[in-house]
Amino acid sequence: MAEQAAQAEIAPAMEHFDVLIVGAGISGVAGAYHLREKCLDTSFVILESEESFGGTWWTHRSPGIRSDSDLHTFGYGFKPWVGPPIATAEEILSYMGEVIEENDLAQHIRYRHKILKADWSEKDSRWTVEAVRLDTDETVRISADFLWMCQGYYRHNEGYTPDWDGMTDFKGRIAHPENWPDDIDYAGKKVVVIGSGATAATVVPAMAQTAAHVTMLQRTPTFFRTGRNAIEIAEQLRSLRIDESWVHEITRRQIMSDQSAFTQRCMTDSQAVADELIGNIRNLLGSDFDVDTHFTPPYRPWRQRIAFVPDADMFKAIAAGKASVVTDHIDRFTETGIKLQSGEELEADIIVTATGFNMNVMGDIAFAIDGKPLDWHDTVTYRGMMFTSVPNLAWVFGYFRGSWTVRSELIAEFVCRLLNHMRETGAKTVQPALRAEDADMKLFDWMDEEDFNPNYLKRAVSILPRRGDKREWRHTQDHWNEKKEFPAIDLDGEEFVYRSGTRSDLAAE
Ligand SMILES: Cc1cc2nc3c(=O)[nH]c(=O)nc-3n(C[C@H](O)[C@H](O)[C@H](O)COP(=O)(O)OP(=O)(O)OC[C@H]3O[C@@H](n4cnc5c(N)ncnc54)[C@H](O)[C@@H]3O)c2cc1C
Repeated sequence: MAEQAAQAEIAPAMEHFDVLIVGAGISGVAGAYHLREKCLDTSFVILESEESFGGTWWTHRSPGIRSDSDLHTFGYGFKPWVGPPIATAEEILSYMGEVIEENDLAQHIRYRHKILKADWSEKDSRWTVEAVRLDTDETVRISADFLWMCQGYYRHNEGYTPDWDGMTDFKGRIAHPENWPDDIDYAGKKVVVIGSGATAATVVPAMAQTAAHVTMLQRTPTFFRTGRNAIEIAEQLRSLRIDESWVHEITRRQIMSDQSAFTQRCMTDSQAVADELIGNIRNLLGSDFDVDTHFTPPYRPWRQRIAFVPDADMFKAIAAGKASVVTDHIDRFTETGIKLQSGEELEADIIVTATGFNMNVMGDIAFAIDGKPLDWHDTVTYRGMMFTSVPNLAWVFGYFRGSWTVRSELIAEFVCRLLNHMRETGAKTVQPALRAEDADMKLFDWMDEEDFNPNYLKRAVSILPRRGDKREWRHTQDHWNEKKEFPAIDLDGEEFVYRSGTRSDLAAE
């Protein structure tokens, strides 16, 4: 009896993996693919809180949901994209499903596992991750040598909605695009969409197709680009019956080269770019439309993401009178709509709050190092992917001015190289550390506000890691140079501090 009781108290052995990936979005699946290709004997698992893969493209269900990047670059380098460049969430999910199937990745993914805690033990040189299984409420603990954080940058279960006066007075429905209700019927209804970012630009034309009218209400105008949902060079290559893998690669290179040139022009010739972008909208909406008020942003292009509107569908809806734009400030919600500071009232049956994200750091996971809670703001980032005093961890934070995925893959290649290097040299742990030459480096918030300043980032600076002024110690958002710099990173450089040991040491412990 005593023996049985003693046995019952022995905790089941904790499952262990070489690498634990957090999140099965576009970045987590990229990580899994690259691990499988480049780190052959590495065991890994992906924990994902949702019930399927896709991340952003799984959780966002609002009308019209689509990418605003082309899928040649938002898709993976290793898998050709063969459809029109701007894709719906459904098309992106189908593409990711093929990647998972073709590479036998499903066996590595555990859905409905929400990670709540991650603890680093210096003695054991490993992370212990605690997750709750959302299907059974069971707590699961898994240990891993290395954590690969692919959890995105915002909270998936709740969007950001400001607290306006009178919201509870409103008798209609309020919906946030991130938590779109299944049962909302907007046919024949008056809709007000608050916000004018990329999400609003997809919701407005989609809802305008059947709604009585859609009003886009914004505080500040946004820059937009429009064009055909097609890429000329891809069309030309296809007309010559070039193999799709070549079409994909050549089109990717063309797009990235164009993006780099455009970004450069936004810095050096910003007024000319602004004039071009605004001039395009003027042509689409006609000379009677008040473009100065509604589509002339007070900042230079690319300080906030520039949304691409395929086939100018939002502008066509506005020109056709199915949608309109109001630039004003909200005074309060009323029973029947929104009262504006100008005194005007907008009537609405449905109000869509396309007001952005609640940014989070590392998936709201409580991190600790040897039991001491980790405050990410105390750390300094190494190239926007690792952090001082945080061992064996990489974070994927993509590009804002180009496709996110391009950076997910650049980081994936780096992480695989780092893991192989550690294996070859017998290192158990690695963490970045400021070098002697960095001793006097000034530290700043994560993003340079002068460079890029969307509101969700501004709201989150106090919880984000900090950066230095040298390229090694910041996320530069500069793909053109990072694609050369990352593969050339010297893994024996002074900025990497390794602790040696072998995996067999661990097994013997
Ligand atoms: C509507 C919309 C459109 C966008 N369009 C573009 C675009 O066209 N181009 C572009 O470059 N970017 C776009 N973005 C930005 C977009 O989020 C990223 O490009 C990309 O999808 C992020 O992929 P990810 O895998 O890094 O993160 P996510 O897509 O955010 O996926 C992260 C995954 O991690 C899981 N996760 C998070 N925390 C935990 C936890 N604690 N435990 C377990 N699992 C967890 C989440 O459930 C999620 O599935 C868009 C964003 C939105 C919201």
